[in-house]
Amino acid sequence: MMDKKLCQSCGMPVDDEKLLGSNEDGTKNDDYCVHCFKDGKFTSHETLEEMIEICVPYMVKDGFEEGNAREMLHNTLPKLKRWAQ
Ligand SMILES: [Zn+2]
Repeated sequence: MMDKKLCQSCGMPVDDEKLLGSNEDGTKNDDYCVHCFKDGKFTSHETLEEMIEICVPYMVKDGFEEGNAREMLHNTLPKLKRWAQ
């Protein structure tokens, strides 16, 4: 459970190789998911705050209360590789 792989941009669990993003040379990128990273580049250039707002509705769909979802994202996303400086 602890070593479950997460996309280092959006925090989505990446438990299937098909969900991994791709490098410029077509190989899989281990850090990011297919939604965030394609052909060696991020698919969009949102800020951390924007990313949180993009993720909230997905978590609400998964059954989270909106305020809790936002708080959780504020706690977890800044630690991911893309956002941690
Ligand atoms: Zn992602």
